[in-house]
Amino acid sequence: MGGTFDPIHYGHLVTAEEALVQFNLDKVIFMPTGVPVRKTHRTVTPAEHRYLMTVIATASNPDFEVSRLEIDRAGLTYTVDTMLALRDLNGPQTELYFITGADAVWDILTWKDSGRLADVCTFIAATRPGYDLERFSQEDAQRLSIEFMEVPALAISSTDIRLRLGERRPVRYLLPESVGAYVAKNNLYAGGL
Ligand code: NAP
Repeated sequence: MGGTFDPIHYGHLVTAEEALVQFNLDKVIFMPTGVPVRKTHRTVTPAEHRYLMTVIATASNPDFEVSRLEIDRAGLTYTVDTMLALRDLNGPQTELYFITGADAVWDILTWKDSGRLADVCTFIAATRPGYDLERFSQEDAQRLSIEFMEVPALAISSTDIRLRLGERRPVRYLLPESVGAYVAKNNLYAGGL
């Protein structure tokens, strides 16, 4: 499960649990992005903070793991490199899925080696309620093996949480309390977006 996780919230956790059950997965590996390709418009929180928040949020679930693969890899983060590395680590017989938000999957056509990526994994694109699936043509969805999954809890968003924190509005119940405590302790997002 790829994401910037800046910060991780209940929408992400519900998405992971839903994918685990719907697709009968053995486990979900959370993969905080190292240096996101598309995040030139804002400063992303240092990877170590995003990684630790992800570890804290997932610690109690035995089916969830967190990987440092992307944050330890130098240069821009490309999903194709990650999925090929995971295939090498787990063997070619392992069935791989890449779970992320539908908006991110939308970018897939322009991603590095998207065709190759589709050979290595199936995409699970999580959508917020009311998401316009018309954006994806049937052809693209089939060609790139994209499965869609609506997740009502994705009404929560990292952007909204950062905004709220910047304006000193409450974020309780949007993300795990332990993550909220980590955010407060490290004074993250005080500047909002
Ligand atoms: P993003 O643009 O920040 O997010 C797009 C949308 O998807 C947002 O609404 C976001 O909500 C949601 N989202 C992101 N991760 C999610 C998750 N794990 N579960 C549910 N919803 C999620 O996307 P991003 O975080 O930068 O990228 C997502 C993944 O795609 C990462 O693994 C990234 O490395 C990969 N990606 C790869 C390439 C490439 O290889 N060239 C290009 C773009 C993205 P929140 O803000 O609430 O999370």
